[in-house]
Amino acid sequence: MTVTPQTNTTLQEIAAELLKRDAIAICGHVNPDGDCIGSTLGLACALRAVGKTAFALVADDGPVDASLSFMPGFASLVPAAAFDEPIDAFVMVDAPGAQRIGEAAEAVRAAAALTVTIDHHAVPERASRLSYTDPDSASASLLVWEVAKLLGISPQGEDMREVATCCYSGLLTDTGRFMHQNTNLEAFQGAVEMMACGLDAARISTALFQQRTEASVKIDALAVDRMQVVGRALLSWISIGDIEALGADKHDVENAIAPLRSIAGFDVACILKEREGCVRGSLRAKDGTDVAAVAREFGGGGHKAAAGFTLECGIDEAVRIMQDRLATL
Ligand code: 5GP
Ligand code: MN
Repeated sequence: MTVTPQTNTTLQEIAAELLKRDAIAICGHVNPDGDCIGSTLGLACALRAVGKTAFALVADDGPVDASLSFMPGFASLVPAAAFDEPIDAFVMVDAPGAQRIGEAAEAVRAAAALTVTIDHHAVPERASRLSYTDPDSASASLLVWEVAKLLGISPQGEDMREVATCCYSGLLTDTGRFMHQNTNLEAFQGAVEMMACGLDAARISTALFQQRTEASVKIDALAVDRMQVVGRALLSWISIGDIEALGADKHDVENAIAPLRSIAGFDVACILKEREGCVRGSLRAKDGTDVAAVAREFGGGGHKAAAGFTLECGIDEAVRIMQDRLATL
């Protein structure tokens, strides 16, 4: 465990402070993934289990990936833009700062007497009054799991089983099923504890990885079909036209980096995914290459081995930009 310089608290103190409040809003990053939703819903379940009113917010308006809908509390997710309840505390999970939670959630956060960050993305500045950031934690949901234990919920009850289901889902997705470089002893230990609370690991894996839409598999195939070798990297892209032609949506494109990173002989993979008015880039590294540093050059960020960024241009321009950048990696 390594906490960063912007950390000014402990998970014990966070749990103790949350126990003193009544109404608590929780929100993760825009474009939410399994860890973001798992952390948000896991903490919401845990706080509800100890009698709190917990609001689980989503930073953006769009529908959340339906493959995450098996998580307990999914139906209670509210877009931050539609939220105006009074709150005593705001907890930002799996997101290091205001820029990653977007304007709507930032407005909710500004109204809270207590602001808290529970995260695993290292950034130079502290975003909340109480900030706990551990970049060695495989997922933010693993930190939420620690907080849930500190809240004193019975490990044998239904509540903790629900918390475990959410937190395990975040752990499983952020480690790529215990495959990526962030998979460490604490990740496995956390998984064992969650299993001991009675979660159904096979059901979760099926929901997350074996209920894919046909369109998302076709998107993967297209990404592989048109990939280019650029120096040490593989580069591919998916345009809005491709998404429309395959009857896909933005969730179907989200993991198209996975087949690229699985190919032998390349240290880095990059995929560019066109959206309305911008292009989202995803970078992955299998060696020690710091792709978060590359993402930061384009205003993004993330982890050393998995990072993302947004380019305000069309897909052709974005491909040219990344061809140039990856050539000099
Ligand atoms: P993905 O490629 O799956 O979108 O993101 C990979 C990792 O980078 C995740 O941890 C995600 O939170 C982070 N990330 C993605 N896009 C951005 C971005 O624009 N800014 C920052 N700071 N992090 C990002
Ligand atoms: Mn995460």
